[in-house]
Amino acid sequence: MWDSIVRATALNNTIRVSAVVTTKLTNEASLRHQTFPVATAALGRVMSAALLLTWGLKGEGAITVRVFGDGPLGGIIADANTEGEVRGYVQNPHVDLPLNNRGKLDVGGGVGGGNLYITKDIGLKEAYTGSIPLVSGEIGEDIASYLTRSEQIPSLVSLGVLVNPDFSVEASGGIIIQVLPDTPEEVLEKIEENTAKLKPISTLVKEGNGPKELIALYLQGIDINYLEEKPVNFRCKCSEDRIKNILVSLGKEELKDMIKKEGKGEITCHFCNEIYTLSKTELEDILENI
Ligand SMILES: [Zn+2]
Repeated sequence: MWDSIVRATALNNTIRVSAVVTTKLTNEASLRHQTFPVATAALGRVMSAALLLTWGLKGEGAITVRVFGDGPLGGIIADANTEGEVRGYVQNPHVDLPLNNRGKLDVGGGVGGGNLYITKDIGLKEAYTGSIPLVSGEIGEDIASYLTRSEQIPSLVSLGVLVNPDFSVEASGGIIIQVLPDTPEEVLEKIEENTAKLKPISTLVKEGNGPKELIALYLQGIDINYLEEKPVNFRCKCSEDRIKNILVSLGKEELKDMIKKEGKGEITCHFCNEIYTLSKTELEDILENI
């Protein structure tokens, strides 16, 4: 099954829902950053959330989700765009924690207490950033609290990642259901009833349910209007040109120092862990053109 995102509405647009399967891209992020299971689960959930939140953005819009807790994982950052591209990293990928009291990867314990920041870039000069204190650090609840408090839209958010004993990703995905004002009470009750009966979302993905099937399960008994499905991928915007621009911004003195001390430039992209190596001649070329 390919990773993809599906958006839909229901009941004359009073419910909007978006579901995503991110198993392959979370596995790629895990391999790139060599994450241990708790870090894999946290990063997978944050990347799924970033993709789901691109709902309604147009053109070159993008979402950045930043989770800054005081737990051992440190910061977790992911950004996603309307092309279905996402990238992300976790500050401390090698965190090992015992399972929590529900027998699950302890993402909340790894994240700790702190704040969640969501930046919406809709292509204007200034991006909008909203923040809330973390509720549990489990990410899903935190995103739901953000949407309910900042955007005043009651939201159900479920995010999950299953990691195999060999650290590969077995399943990863998520769903956001937003209920606009004026939705009849019995519809809300129906969604809550459906949700309570369902297995955890990572299990549903493991069992082979794609985003469309996930939406159908959560909104069982409600007419759904599917809007679009598109693939999602781990993709970083870094390139040799961008790295060269970063070197230019370091300034002459620092570049001279790098050439003198190291004889080459080695820059690692935080987001994808790609290492760019520039030779002494390349560094000297950049220096000449500053
Ligand atoms: Zn990169």
